[in-house]
Amino acid sequence: MSEHMSLSNELLVKLIESADTARNNSYAPYSKFRVGAALYAVTDKDESVIITGCNVENASYPAGNCAERTAVFKAVSEGYNNFKAIAIVGGYDSYTSPCGICRQVLREFVAPGDFYVIMAKNKTDYVIKTLEELLPMSFGPDNLTGV
Ligand SMILES: [Zn+2]
Repeated sequence: MSEHMSLSNELLVKLIESADTARNNSYAPYSKFRVGAALYAVTDKDESVIITGCNVENASYPAGNCAERTAVFKAVSEGYNNFKAIAIVGGYDSYTSPCGICRQVLREFVAPGDFYVIMAKNKTDYVIKTLEELLPMSFGPDNLTGV
């Protein structure tokens, strides 16, 4: 579905399924908009892991957290920070794109042109963009060198 593919179809399906499963744990009593995310990370030993997250809302609305950031923070807290892709499943009849805050949080840990964001309705209907496409001319760690 995309010319971006350096991800195997098998991995794509696995990431989308993982995001959809994580979506089941979504805590979204206010918006009712359930989202799941599955982050694909590799280790120094070239092993790979999938870390999932869901959105977690709060009665104090701004205190809530998106699925993508839940996955990133889980991963980093567990020692993984070399990310290659993330799959996101929200509504089944539309592609769910990461919000601006999540794009920036992802940017901290990845090379934007070499990180893939998979926005999926289901296992066969998805859109893939690089983070560079979603967050062009981004501000990242390199901008703070030489300060
Ligand atoms: Zn977000």
